[in-house]
Amino acid sequence: MTIPTLSAERAASFESDRPTREPILGLDRATLGARLVALGVPERQVRMRSNQLWSWTYVRGVTDVGAMTDIGKDLRAEIGEAFTLKRPEIVTEQVSVDGKEVETVYIPEEDRGTLCISSQVGCTLTCSFCHTGTQRLVRNLTSGEIVGQIMLARDRLGDWPGASASDLRGLPDSERKITNVVLMGMGEPLYNFDNVRDAMAIAADGEGLAIGKRRITLSTSGVVPEIPRWGDEAGTMLAISLHAVHDELRDKLVPINKKWPLKDLLAACRAYPGLSNAKRITFEYVMLKGVNDSIADAKELVRLLAKIPAKINLIPFNPWPAAPFECSDWDQIEKFAEVVNRAGYASPVRSPRGRDIMAACGQLKSASVKLRASARLTQA
Ligand code: SAH
Ligand code: SF4
Repeated sequence: MTIPTLSAERAASFESDRPTREPILGLDRATLGARLVALGVPERQVRMRSNQLWSWTYVRGVTDVGAMTDIGKDLRAEIGEAFTLKRPEIVTEQVSVDGKEVETVYIPEEDRGTLCISSQVGCTLTCSFCHTGTQRLVRNLTSGEIVGQIMLARDRLGDWPGASASDLRGLPDSERKITNVVLMGMGEPLYNFDNVRDAMAIAADGEGLAIGKRRITLSTSGVVPEIPRWGDEAGTMLAISLHAVHDELRDKLVPINKKWPLKDLLAACRAYPGLSNAKRITFEYVMLKGVNDSIADAKELVRLLAKIPAKINLIPFNPWPAAPFECSDWDQIEKFAEVVNRAGYASPVRSPRGRDIMAACGQLKSASVKLRASARLTQA
């Protein structure tokens, strides 16, 4: 499967007015160092200078190189000429141009805040219950655009040292407003492996955004060969969009199953690097009325996952216009959940709030809780 990558378009998507300035967001430390060398920074200063740049970018969240006061004026000016800290346009735009929009969803809870981010515009896969799968236009987001979603969310939430949200109502008590990141927005993250990996390395960097790998979760529909590689190279938490317990049905709901059926998917899960009771895989299961929600399905789900350290999330289906499915009835969801509960999985159904959010995550085009909306809410 080929997905158009963006390198040629990259600068333009960030900074159409001055296409020569390269975005800093998304550059890893080594590349940043190399760029400074190219600017004429003496070799022995490169490390210090890139640490300064990194820290202003990811710890302080500045959007203007001019604010980096511990870097001498001349060098600051040169850096400002060559680079931009502007947030990626595709993310800030939020304009409803069909197929051009990605969305970021912020989920505040009492003691934490989760940001649901996208990895692609659209998705090349065509899961039959997913609105994203019906979109025509698909392209990979750059690592800068992926990290940029976190930066933009922190801008909007006033979540930088010294800044403060104009009204903190509805925001979590935690010191940081974004404590967790889930790759559950638009797109199949394992089909944009390198950019997502690079972006998550930046997000996890202890001297930057410092979102621990245990607080980052990648959700995949089941790109089996990339699962072990993701574990080795990124090592975040993993979520699997399971949704069916038999190949026959999963072939229809999650067509990538025809390529990598349940047996292969579950084998990759069992072998996931670092898997333990402290580091469980989350299995997502969307509740579709009369399709996958029988008690027999619930029992088979529990049986299938018996030997895997797992969490189960039952997600009420979020309908979209002309969707060929309905959400299961609430008492059926409860009965299903009871079977799962009895097998030792804690509260597997998302709370009404989380439910909204998850639905929004899985179905970003008509998301009910968008960052913009929630930012407005908390400021109202
Ligand atoms: N492509 C990845 C990640 C994005 S989707 C994946 O499929 O895992 C994030 C989650 O939302 C997935 O579990 C997806 O199956 C689910 N989802 C998609 N559409 C949904 C809908 N209409 N209602 C509820 N969940 C949905
Ligand atoms: Fe793509 Fe995930 Fe939607 Fe499937 S559920 S179409 S993989 S975004």
